[in-house]
Amino acid sequence: MTRYDVVVIGAGVFGAWTAWHLARRGRKVLLADAYGPGNSRASSAGESRIIRMGYGADELYTRWSQRSLVQWKELFAAAGQPLFQETGVLWLAGKEDLRVRQTAEALRRCGVAYQELSRAELEKQYPQIGLDGITMGLLEPHSGVLMARRAVAAVVDDLVRDGVEYRVAQITEPRGSGAISAVTTSSGERISADTFVFSCGAWLGKLFPEVLGSRIFPSRQEVFFFGVPAGDARFAPPALPTWLFQKDEIYGMPDLESRGLKIAVDRHGERVDPDTQSRLASAEGAEEARRFVEQRFPALRGAPIVETRVCQYENTWNGDFLIDRHPEMENVWFVGGGSGHGFKHGPAVGEYVAGRILDGAASEERFSLGSKETVQRRAVF
Ligand SMILES: Cc1cc2nc3c(=O)[nH]c(=O)nc-3n(C[C@H](O)[C@H](O)[C@H](O)COP(=O)(O)OP(=O)(O)OC[C@H]3O[C@@H](n4cnc5c(N)ncnc54)[C@H](O)[C@@H]3O)c2cc1C
Repeated sequence: MTRYDVVVIGAGVFGAWTAWHLARRGRKVLLADAYGPGNSRASSAGESRIIRMGYGADELYTRWSQRSLVQWKELFAAAGQPLFQETGVLWLAGKEDLRVRQTAEALRRCGVAYQELSRAELEKQYPQIGLDGITMGLLEPHSGVLMARRAVAAVVDDLVRDGVEYRVAQITEPRGSGAISAVTTSSGERISADTFVFSCGAWLGKLFPEVLGSRIFPSRQEVFFFGVPAGDARFAPPALPTWLFQKDEIYGMPDLESRGLKIAVDRHGERVDPDTQSRLASAEGAEEARRFVEQRFPALRGAPIVETRVCQYENTWNGDFLIDRHPEMENVWFVGGGSGHGFKHGPAVGEYVAGRILDGAASEERFSLGSKETVQRRAVF
């Protein structure tokens, strides 16, 4: 029976990049997924995910985004697949918007390029946006969008070329204490390794109910694509960037690859089971998205919804990731808690996990299991 150095369970963006970094460092790795990399139930499965540098005053995630964008670009260049679109990311700010001011300061400290735009400049540059309640903007011109599902597939293709074994398998909850020697698939096969990484997104709470059942909060999230008028380039890049206005709790992306204007509700929806939740968008969600489009993009009043997606966030109590060992099994690791903002950080997460496992690198307290509370108070966006 083959014995691996590391088995990575879950081929979403976190697991794929973890396997990638471990393989680059010469380890024999098996990557397993119950349904497939970036499958339709996974959080990493959407068409597109924002990669922005701004995180308010929070430099940790700003620096991780910077590191990650470099690695994403290198991977896409090597794969010959242009899966990053430099749309620019526009933060819209209302009166006394402390977060956008803090974002500008953090970007300056971290050496990220940005432009501040007055209300008058916004009106001139983006006449297609309804600026109700907006006083200024902050543009990250070199940030943009990762074509998510295909980006995960590109990472997996690359690591398979690098010698990682990938297979479809559902792994069951390991039992024991100290160092375990193997995990078991749902069909009864044992897989042996020195280390096991469970990067199972919203499934982490199902798989480890005692430790994580009350610490991972999967929430239903709906996404809508609105058809743009025929022959109209105002809603595609470069005319329209990706934008966020935190007060709306809704953000979006321009018309990329002709899928339509993307509108996503960032407010947490109901708690869901990632295996069985309905992937049909709700009538209430569609109505809310329509109202938002009418307000922010008046020229799209009455535009048809041309596609929808239903996904889930895998939230921790405050939005900080969970990257730590199992409390009883010393060679079992949890990697997850992307909390609606994790995709962009896949490369930095993988690098950090490889450093922790292979070098015993220092741990970041904010990612520890001990810091994870059982009541939700979102603080990281
Ligand atoms: C609508 C939406 C919009 C988002 N927007 C952004 C954004 O703009 N920017 C951003 O950075 N982030 C964004 N995110 C967050 C980001 O997509 C997630 O944090 C990230 O994809 C999580 O990746 P993951 O690898 O942890 O989980 P997943 O992608 O869910 O992967 C987990 C994998 O584990 C597998 N698995 C589970 N259990 C088992 C088992 N027992 N055995 C084997 N395999 C198993 C599953 O099949 C799955 O493939 C968004 C998320 C959603 C839902």
